[in-house]
Amino acid sequence: MNHIEENEEYAFKHWATVISEEAIKRFGNEQVVATGWAPSGYYHVGNFKEAVTCRAIQRELINLGADSQYILNIDDVDTLDKIPAFFKKDYGKMLHPYLGHAINKVLDPLGCHDSYADHFIADGLPRMNEFDVNPEPIHSSKLYLEGKYDKYAKLFLEKKEEMFELTERITGSRMEDFFLIQCPECQNFAAPKMIDYEFVKNKIRVKLLCRRENRGCGKESTIFLGDTQWKLKWRLDWAARQDFLGVTVESSGKDHGVAGGSIDSSLAMHKDIFNKDKLPLLVQHGFLTFGGKKLSGSTGSGMPVSEFPKILEPQTFLYKIYRHNLRTDFDFKADYDVPSVASEYDRAEELFYGEEEIEHLKTREKTVKAYELAQIDEKPIKKPVRVDYGHLVTVMQVCMFDKEQVVQKLIKGNILPKDISKYDMDLFNERYEKAKYWIENFANENLKFKIVDDPRCDDVKKVEKKILEQLLSAIKEIPEGYHGDDITQDLYNSAKAVDFKPTLFFKAIYRIILGRKSGPRAGTLIDALGKDEIIRILEKALDCY
Ligand SMILES: [Zn+2]
Ligand SMILES: [Zn+2]
Repeated sequence: MNHIEENEEYAFKHWATVISEEAIKRFGNEQVVATGWAPSGYYHVGNFKEAVTCRAIQRELINLGADSQYILNIDDVDTLDKIPAFFKKDYGKMLHPYLGHAINKVLDPLGCHDSYADHFIADGLPRMNEFDVNPEPIHSSKLYLEGKYDKYAKLFLEKKEEMFELTERITGSRMEDFFLIQCPECQNFAAPKMIDYEFVKNKIRVKLLCRRENRGCGKESTIFLGDTQWKLKWRLDWAARQDFLGVTVESSGKDHGVAGGSIDSSLAMHKDIFNKDKLPLLVQHGFLTFGGKKLSGSTGSGMPVSEFPKILEPQTFLYKIYRHNLRTDFDFKADYDVPSVASEYDRAEELFYGEEEIEHLKTREKTVKAYELAQIDEKPIKKPVRVDYGHLVTVMQVCMFDKEQVVQKLIKGNILPKDISKYDMDLFNERYEKAKYWIENFANENLKFKIVDDPRCDDVKKVEKKILEQLLSAIKEIPEGYHGDDITQDLYNSAKAVDFKPTLFFKAIYRIILGRKSGPRAGTLIDALGKDEIIRILEKALDCY
């Protein structure tokens, strides 16, 4: 089962359950979940998607009674192929001589760590921890130094004819070079080509040509493999590592899963070169894109992962990823989608605590499982009090970020209980700070507004007088105790009753109260501002005619 969707249970069960059950069927209760990251740039949301996907699988394996390790392989012997955009201006010259070198041998341009790789590792690991992703990190450089890959170097060379056949069969082109070996003369990692080799006792003596066309020094040298830093080419490295770590499940981006991709070649090596009958479960996940773009850490594009916990509770974002189909890409617009991500989580929470009915049992199971897997702390016994993120954003702006006033309004609107527990108040404070940070740093301009104290007659006159009069009387007639969407619906009905298009009412509110064409949901706005205050502003507006 390479494509998890091929499993018929996929439609009913959460993907983490389907994968875990399959892994247990193959390997029993000893499980090793693995993920990888090359620290050649800041840890970004693409890396993050992979790490949180594996987190869910590991958790579910444990839920199902298995012992599960979770390993993060940090590929610190990746080569520096290009200078990232964020370093170009200040450190481009400094880094240029290191192009083609392994990132654990490149200097940290900022000087705060031992190497270029260490600089990004120090940034990435805490990012994961913030989302309760706590894998056991292992470093490629160390695995090579410890000799973990030695037997594979020998094996691939001994079976080179099979490897030629295998790579040709899987990828359509024959892979001739198996290694990256650091040149002893100029330290370049990408330029040397192995032009000859011989087995000498337990060692492999290699002859290298450091290719000038690849920024090398042009010299030939003969060394033993291991005298300088070396690694297997990516596809070989991956399969070998899965073998010696005993990886049972690994998820990688679905680009690896295309026909002839690294998943196919890895599985073929497990079967035909390592002669295994039980193959690791290599699953694929879709990408997390950002306003439609796929992100890359080394180009420095997109939103740093460090910003996520500042705008959303980590579990809400984990839930969003876990509720999504595994292989489907998911796009996140940081300026727009934040309130809806939070409210999807709140709805799942209601369902989890049995307060919302869902028709389809299979949807319920996936939702509840995604909610459970997203939890970071222990679940409280009763459902926490939640203030809808979007509603909070509106109320905060109405109250001009006066927190005391926000709390009073929410209590008055029966959204926060008067006798709120400390636990729930802490949750509220957490969401408040995040929403504030989001409005100040990310929210789309269309979602930001300020209440006009005195209506501007230029704006008012864009609204017909009879519409304003009807609106005013409709607002006066909103029954006491109505909140949010009830108010919107009530205005909608009132407009219909006098044969006005409801949108005319809503547009009039935005024009006069906000001085603009659009705004948050009218009911939320009226609720947040208070009926009396709205009536005061609208009555004042009548003087403009
Ligand atoms: Zn540093
Ligand atoms: Zn060289």
